Amino acid sequence: MSIDLKRLVRQNIWNLKPYSCARTEYSQGSATVFLDANESPYNNPNNRYPDPLQRELKAAIARVKGVAEECTFLGNGSDEAIDLVLRIFCEPRRDNVVAISPTYGMYEVCAHINDVEYRPVRLNDDFSLNAGRLLSATDSHTKVIFLCSPNNPTGNCLEREQVERILERFGGIVVVDEAYSDFSTERPFRKDLREHPNMVVLNTMSKAWASAAIRLGMAFASEEIVELMNRVKYPYNVSLPTQKEALAMLRRGPQVGIWIGSILSERRSLTEAFSILPLCEKVFPTDANFFLARVSDARKIYDYLISCGIVVRDRSRVELCPGALRITIGTPDENNALLGALRQYKG
Ligand code: PMP
Repeated sequence: MSIDLKRLVRQNIWNLKPYSCARTEYSQGSATVFLDANESPYNNPNNRYPDPLQRELKAAIARVKGVAEECTFLGNGSDEAIDLVLRIFCEPRRDNVVAISPTYGMYEVCAHINDVEYRPVRLNDDFSLNAGRLLSATDSHTKVIFLCSPNNPTGNCLEREQVERILERFGGIVVVDEAYSDFSTERPFRKDLREHPNMVVLNTMSKAWASAAIRLGMAFASEEIVELMNRVKYPYNVSLPTQKEALAMLRRGPQVGIWIGSILSERRSLTEAFSILPLCEKVFPTDANFFLARVSDARKIYDYLISCGIVVRDRSRVELCPGALRITIGTPDENNALLGALRQYKG
């Protein structure tokens, strides 16, 4: 769906004259003496502000992800991109956002922080997406729809055809959070940016790239939307240590591929072994590095595992997930520790 950005963006953001930092005014050339940014001359390289647009890192990410640099935004985790989308498009106390339910909790928290109404719309009982139900929850004040595929906490990919229906029929922004897409064989939506000028795809270094500590998230969108995100973000939102560490990780692509392979093979063996435990009622299919399982007594089993020094996520009070635990795939040793403990469980 083509969109009228000027109509969608908050007026104050559209008119914003962004902060111009020293490193934006002077970003390249042969200067060697920097007396422009009130930095200390000592303790190189951490004395200097980092590149506000993270150009070197963006070029490397663009190569790995197959997305143009101009269509790439980098932030302090994908959580920064989620917050920016709300701040750019949603007028507090007037606009609303629609999201699938259950899903990742930060969409709702960020909406509430921004005083924006959040409208959760239940997935089907098998966790599949019903585009019609989502679209009918929108009105003229709905600016953003949040989708997550593979979805957290359910683990499944949303059906491409249903997502496309939303992208084609909704005149606002559709966020497709693909934090877990490296664990799935489905074609990622970031490859289809050109066809969908209203789409913002989220990726992160926190999952398959094994770098949650450095806080680096990505948003892929049209050049115009990325330009708006760059104007609204804090000037130096990605630290130099993070930029350096992310570049180092991107050079370790083959190692990351091996880790993903191991997680996928462990996912197969762990879910198989889990499904025949007496306490297991159902293991739901997963395209992510975690799985959701319905068990005989989620709270008791959660507490029992804690007493064994093993932490999983109790999702039993989440919509459509009664009795469910969410379990991340660990190393073979960690997964065996989990299975060993559960085999000893006496309900
Ligand atoms: N999206 C989803 C679907 C997630 O599950 C998470 C973290 N659990 C995030 C985004 C957050 O990613 P980041 O660490 O990049 O902020």
